[in-house]
Amino acid sequence: MADLQTNVRYLKGIGEKKALALNKLGVFTLYDLVSYFPRKYEDRSEYRPIGLTLNGETVCICAMIADTPRLTRIRRGLDLVRFKAVDDSGVVEITYFNQPYTKDNLHRGESYVFFGKIEVHGSRRSMANPVYEREGVENGVTGRIVPVYRLSAGLNQRLLLQCIRQGLDACQEQLPELLPESVRQRCQLVQARYAYENIHFPADFGALELARRRLIFEELFVLACALGMLRGERTKESGLPFAPLDLEEFWSSLPFSPTGAQRRATEQALADMQSGAVMNRLLQGDVGSGKTLVAAALIWAAWKCGYASAFMAPTEILADQHFSTLTGMLAPLGMRVGKLTGAMSAKEKRQIKAELEKGALDLVIGTHALFSADVSYHKLGLVITDEQHRFGVDQRSALIAKGHKPHVLVMSATPIPRTLALIIYGDLDVSILDELPPGRQKVDTFAVDGSYRERLNGFIGKLCAEGRQVFVVCPMVEENEDLPSPLKSAEEHARELSAVFPNLRVACVHGRMKAKDKDAVMAAFLAGESDILVSTTVIEVGVDVPNAALMVVENAERFGLSQLHQLRGRVGRGQHKSYCVLVSDADSEDVRARLKILCQTNDGFKISEEDLRLRGPGDFFGSRQHGLPETHIADLGADTQLLQKAQQEAQLLLEDDPNLTRPENAALRERIHQLFLANTDSFN
Ligand code: ADP
Ligand code: MG
Repeated sequence: MADLQTNVRYLKGIGEKKALALNKLGVFTLYDLVSYFPRKYEDRSEYRPIGLTLNGETVCICAMIADTPRLTRIRRGLDLVRFKAVDDSGVVEITYFNQPYTKDNLHRGESYVFFGKIEVHGSRRSMANPVYEREGVENGVTGRIVPVYRLSAGLNQRLLLQCIRQGLDACQEQLPELLPESVRQRCQLVQARYAYENIHFPADFGALELARRRLIFEELFVLACALGMLRGERTKESGLPFAPLDLEEFWSSLPFSPTGAQRRATEQALADMQSGAVMNRLLQGDVGSGKTLVAAALIWAAWKCGYASAFMAPTEILADQHFSTLTGMLAPLGMRVGKLTGAMSAKEKRQIKAELEKGALDLVIGTHALFSADVSYHKLGLVITDEQHRFGVDQRSALIAKGHKPHVLVMSATPIPRTLALIIYGDLDVSILDELPPGRQKVDTFAVDGSYRERLNGFIGKLCAEGRQVFVVCPMVEENEDLPSPLKSAEEHARELSAVFPNLRVACVHGRMKAKDKDAVMAAFLAGESDILVSTTVIEVGVDVPNAALMVVENAERFGLSQLHQLRGRVGRGQHKSYCVLVSDADSEDVRARLKILCQTNDGFKISEEDLRLRGPGDFFGSRQHGLPETHIADLGADTQLLQKAQQEAQLLLEDDPNLTRPENAALRERIHQLFLANTDSFN
């Protein structure tokens, strides 16, 4: 007797090889299988009379084969099977290319359903390579709305569909109802069983919509419950209670006043740390909004309360920068600041580690070296990680584990629309820096095409002659990428620029270099030892080169808006008037419209909202790890209304049954367990 956990090998037609092909799609059990949702649907529900079909339409026709299918070999590697098919309304000529077996499968005088694209030339109609099957066949691929699945090698649509049919037939009764009855009623959602049946075998478009809505909701609801539980566990956890203190003492030590947003964010974090519970807070702020200052204030507060802090940066060079900024702010106040990075000599590292262990440092700044096994801390009270999307969730927890439940602040420079932030960072509280420090100059931004090349080069030359430096970013080029217009790699582009500017020093960093070498080139640029730095997006994170006044992005159409905004944030960080030039030869309205948004606004949140709207969340996050299970059917960007509903309902449910221990919530709890087991040990 099969159940949801039965291996797909149990299915008829699935041997070892096909099972492996299914595994490639993430399908191992029958539950996985029935939860493997279609990518799209084709409407093959209606048969059209041949005589009424129009050129270019993709349709189903039901027709009788009027002559014996003939196989002709045109030349080597090209043969075709051709015949005429008729219904009451007309004739269509059908051709199969390189499928000689169709000659034996299709018989004169018999009726079939053909699904394909009609071509009309004068009064002649034809169809090439249509899908075919006998009329009236059960569970066939015509005569209804047909799902289309993403496949892997060794599978085809028909086989996959048959497997899903078998899976549903075997387990329909056992599909767990994850949604509480009251939620289903309130939100008008169909039952699980109906939803699974109709997402794969929709009776009609109405049924399909009901099924989709229910499954999207379910997915978001499960996610929201899981994150709600995580947050619940964390905030319940007691933390180091920081004593009350007056931040003015710190603010007044600065050469400038904090912005209102900086004050607000600092006070929110401080309230967390004084509450007796552990702080888990995300600090989100656009590039240049001054996140470092908030971090410094909190590090200072920790020190005042007798605790040390660790500050983790994603690269050596950023660690160096933060080290010098934070030392500049904190050392004069009497704090002892150290640095620990992989690039330091063994001796230096040993010394820092010894100091950390005996509590001789109040702040250590570093890279992931901070959480290597042989580092131990004395009274670690606060952990701050910068540019968090560069770190995996695991790395963050490794550092947290070093202290006795230290407070955690995560800083991210990727502005994320609120709805999305709720889901992505659902386990964190969020503070937002929505105000730039005064006197910040707008970076003038221009979108141009290749015809501006000469003028652009002239501009680069002029700025460099004035002593400024220039960033040039090229997209990452995948080795085997097939592109209509070839992209220049960073290295190629750097060679060209060297030829154009024989008197300037052109440096290049790209993704295939070792981290150490990258850092060396970056450090040289920072020190003013090169004029132009050509790179792939490796410079995206918050490196500060105050002397850089121009950012040029080549093939700008290849980047997301948020990414371009991040890149632009690399300039305009000093006192010099700064510019960003987006070069794109892409001949598309779409690209023009997107780049125009950047020329019009410097507001990262506005840009990220547009980006999300235009590209969807998949691209938005790229392959970045955000530590959440992938959604199968919900679109985190588009399904915002359902997302909000799901969140409300999840909150209500968790208020009522925080650990989902009630028997009626057992299935939901079990599901959350399965999804998050790989990511966290918070559920037990
Ligand atoms: P980001 O949020 O991108 O990390 P930073 O913390 O690097 O921003 O700050 C950007 C710049 O703004 C720094 O040079 C910093 O000294 C400056 N800055 C930060 N806060 C203020 C402020 N309140 N007034 C003036 N300048 C500030
Ligand atoms: Mg920064």
